[in-house]
Amino acid sequence: MFDTLSDRLGSVFDRLRGRGALNEADVRAAMREVRVALLEADVALPVARDFVDQVTEKAVGAEVLRSVTPGQMVVKYVHDALVETLGAETAELNLGVTPPAVIMMVGLQGSGKTTTTAKLAKRLTEKDRKKVLMASLDVARPAAQEQLAVLGRQANVDTLPIVPGQQPVDIARRAIQSARLQAYDVVMLDTAGRLHVDDQLMAEMKAVAETSTPAETLLVVDALTGQDAVNVAKGFAGQVDLTGVVLTRLDGDARGGAALSMRAVTGKPIKFAGVGEGIDALEAFHPQRVAGRILG
Ligand code: GDP
Repeated sequence: MFDTLSDRLGSVFDRLRGRGALNEADVRAAMREVRVALLEADVALPVARDFVDQVTEKAVGAEVLRSVTPGQMVVKYVHDALVETLGAETAELNLGVTPPAVIMMVGLQGSGKTTTTAKLAKRLTEKDRKKVLMASLDVARPAAQEQLAVLGRQANVDTLPIVPGQQPVDIARRAIQSARLQAYDVVMLDTAGRLHVDDQLMAEMKAVAETSTPAETLLVVDALTGQDAVNVAKGFAGQVDLTGVVLTRLDGDARGGAALSMRAVTGKPIKFAGVGEGIDALEAFHPQRVAGRILG
């Protein structure tokens, strides 16, 4: 995860640490390299610029330059700026509503939405001891509802029985109704995905949101698509009330651009990360830990 970015930053910092004393020009030169490393990682330009400005401002202070380990201090400021950019605090799910709490999963086709729905349902069942019901609202893709049922059996999580021909809003209503009657704590709605953000997709999502008043609306995006992932998130955030983002395929993401730009550009926290194809490969997104991994 983030190997390319780690390597690039690592070599800048090795050089900084290797020097006993630093002057302002040294720090500025190193920060220019950090900026290039961030841009090559596909971090959005304004985010990379703010990041470097923030670190430079602190790092050229007399206290740093006169310290016995100035390189070390600069690296610490970079670490702090990474944590801040990644979202500062771990963003928790907010399910504190009268049950059943509805979690609406949205995203483009192929982002990993259905898999993530099952992964999160399993996590809520096992880790948080919630009784979870999943329902697929994807009536556009014939195999989608069956795919969720298969994943449900793998994850040991119940899925709403499929009623052929039923429309998304009606499926959502039926899921919530069943959940009330059978005392489920959480209902996860896997909405339809399309290849692009389009009007029909948004209209369908808004209609489902209106009927189901979700406690959480999570956007699933593929980290490997870098800044596109961030643009998709901007598109969705303008239309529905997103409460968070799940970044998938972080296991294969050497660059980290989506993770680093998401919070600053969209204002939405990354709540979980997909880190593999397996049903357990989902982690809470901890900015501190991720910053630690990036800096090795
Ligand atoms: P959907 O069209 O958005 O519902 O996408 P799917 O859930 O069907 O996922 C598409 C593919 O991505 C599947 O083969 C998943 O196993 C894979 N996938 C999903 N999340 C991850 C992840 O975090 N890491 C990896 N490596 N693969 C993932």
